[in-house]
Amino acid sequence: MQVSKHVHALKIPFNITIDSGKKLERFVYCFIIFGSKIHLVDSGVSSSEKLIFDYIRQKGRNPEDIASLTLTHSHPDHIGAAKSIRDFSGCTIIAHENEKDWIENTEKQFADRPVPGFSSLVGGSVPVDKTVEHGEEINLEEGLRLHVIHTPGHSRGSISMSLDYEDILFSGDVIPLPGDMPIYDDPLVLIESIEKLQRLKNRSILLSSWDEPRVGNLVDTIISDGIKHLRQLHNSVMEVATNQKTVDSLEMSKIVLHRVGLPTAMASIPLVVRSLSSSIKYI
Ligand SMILES: [Zn+2]
Repeated sequence: MQVSKHVHALKIPFNITIDSGKKLERFVYCFIIFGSKIHLVDSGVSSSEKLIFDYIRQKGRNPEDIASLTLTHSHPDHIGAAKSIRDFSGCTIIAHENEKDWIENTEKQFADRPVPGFSSLVGGSVPVDKTVEHGEEINLEEGLRLHVIHTPGHSRGSISMSLDYEDILFSGDVIPLPGDMPIYDDPLVLIESIEKLQRLKNRSILLSSWDEPRVGNLVDTIISDGIKHLRQLHNSVMEVATNQKTVDSLEMSKIVLHRVGLPTAMASIPLVVRSLSSSIKYI
């Protein structure tokens, strides 16, 4: 769907098979910026290039014109098709320095952060051609410029980006949705990052990877709800871990999930336990 003059959002559905053999239905958004060339923000999971290329062709354009692919971070559902897209189009891959190693060496990423079904989600390692830092501008082409905001906490090198003139904010996986699986590296660092986005002007369209495009006042609500939700999760972990010193991280996660109204079954997902446990260092 078209969300602004140049930007289109493409929803990519996928499944993750978790340890119990159960399939989790997920989706991720990737974004296509149509200028004189074509620019992508994130690539979806492995094989998403087919959906992306079809969409581009439907719009009367040629996927060979993809000039850049900016990755908000290195997680499988964002980099999955990056290798195929770069192999096909020769596009420039752009990411934050702190994500480079996990993008260029996906085996290392899997060893460091084992996500169920990783090999089916990621089509391979890909070189990062250009790294960017907070405050930097990415000149995609004349009239299309992204401003980089370093927003760590979901991952070390997560970046958000605003697009000049179109009031667009690409936020990757930075803003959690209450009700969805909590996945982050550090809740307090993440809150600080979301507060950076909260202070931005010109962000009337929010393009998050795990939510529909949102517009207007709803953007403020989503940002403040995300912060509130993280505080609630963090405070619950602090309370449970302080009061019940013998509780293991799995039990702690179940209690916390129940307290905040999330399904306790989420505790069967190691990434959720890892995320909640990241609060414990603050005790
Ligand atoms: Zn992520």
